[in-house]
Amino acid sequence: ALASAREHDKPVTQAIEVLPRDAMKLAEELSVAIDRGELVLFYQPKVHARRQEITSAEALIRWRHPTRGLILPGDFIPVAEQAQLIHRLTLWTIEQAIVDAATLRDHGHALRLFVNISGQLLSDDAFVAGACRMVGESDVEIGFEVTETSVIRDPASAIANLQRFADIGIRVSIDDYGAGLSSLAYLKQLPARELKIDKLFVTQLTSSNRDPLIVRSTIDLAHALDMEVVAEGVETHAALALLTVMGCDMIQGFLISRPIALDAFIAFMREDRHR
Ligand code: C2E
Ligand code: CA
Ligand code: CA
Ligand code: CA
Repeated sequence: ALASAREHDKPVTQAIEVLPRDAMKLAEELSVAIDRGELVLFYQPKVHARRQEITSAEALIRWRHPTRGLILPGDFIPVAEQAQLIHRLTLWTIEQAIVDAATLRDHGHALRLFVNISGQLLSDDAFVAGACRMVGESDVEIGFEVTETSVIRDPASAIANLQRFADIGIRVSIDDYGAGLSSLAYLKQLPARELKIDKLFVTQLTSSNRDPLIVRSTIDLAHALDMEVVAEGVETHAALALLTVMGCDMIQGFLISRPIALDAFIAFMREDRHR
C-alpha cells in the first residue's frame, strides 16, 4: 500500500518541480519570439445577428513556433502573464491590430478590431498609458476585451482605467460573462458597451434546459444596462436561430468562421460581401 501510495504521489511531485522550469524556458523563448516576429494575430468575425453584417472582429494570438508549429494562446499566455512578459506582448498585439485594421480598411473593410487584455494589465498604469497613446495616435477603431473576473480583482483601478480607454473611443467588451463570479454591482459601474456571454452557456444552448434561461436573462440584463450582447461559441444554426429570437445582438463562433490569418480573413470578407 505504501509503495503504491508513493507511486501515486510521484507524478504530482514531478509536476510541481518540472513545470516552473519548463515555463521559464518557454518564457525565454517567447521573449525572443516577440522580437523575431513569430507571433501572429488570427481574426474571427463578429456578426450582427439581424443585419447579418460583419462590423468587428476579435484578434486571437498564435505563436508560429519554428519547430513546434502553431501554438495556441492557452499554452503561452498564462506563462507570459507569470513571467511579466504580458505587458510587452500586449503592446505588440495592439500595435499589430492597428496595422491590420488599416490594411483591412485599405481593402474596403473598416472594422473595429478587438484585442484581449489580461486582467493584471488593468492595474498597470504604464501599460494603460502606452495602450492609450498607441490607439490615440492611430486612426482606426479598436476595442478591448477584458474578463469580468479581472475587474473584480482590483475594481477601483480597473474601472478608472477602463474609463480612460472609453474616453478615447476604445470600445470595452466584458469577456467570458457568466464564467466567473458575476457581479451585477460591478457590471453597472463599468464603462463597457458590450457583454460577451461565455461559450460555456452557448455551446449547449439547444441541448440544456437551464442555459437558455441564463442566456435570455443575461441578454435582457445587458440591454437594460444599454449594452450590446455578443454570444461566443456559436457552432450550430439552431443556436444562431435561438439567440436571434432572444434578441442577442452579435454572433461569434465556428458556424460563421474559425479564427483565421489576416489574408484569409480579407478573402472571407470579400466573399461575404458578394454573398
Ligand atoms: P477568449 O477570449 O474567450 O476567446 C475565445 C476562444 O474560443 C478562442 O480560443 C476561440 O478560438 C475559441 N472559439 C471561437 N469560436 C468558437 C466556437 O464556436 N466553439 C468553440 N468551442 N470555441 C470557439 P483561442 O484562440 O485558443 O484563445 C483562447 C484564449 O486565449 C482566449 O479566450 C483569450 O483569453 C486568450 N487570448 C487569445 N489571444 C490573446 C491575446 O492576444 N492576449 C491575451 N492576453 N489573451 C489572448
Ligand atoms: Ca475574448
Ligand atoms: Ca470569451
Ligand atoms: Ca475565455
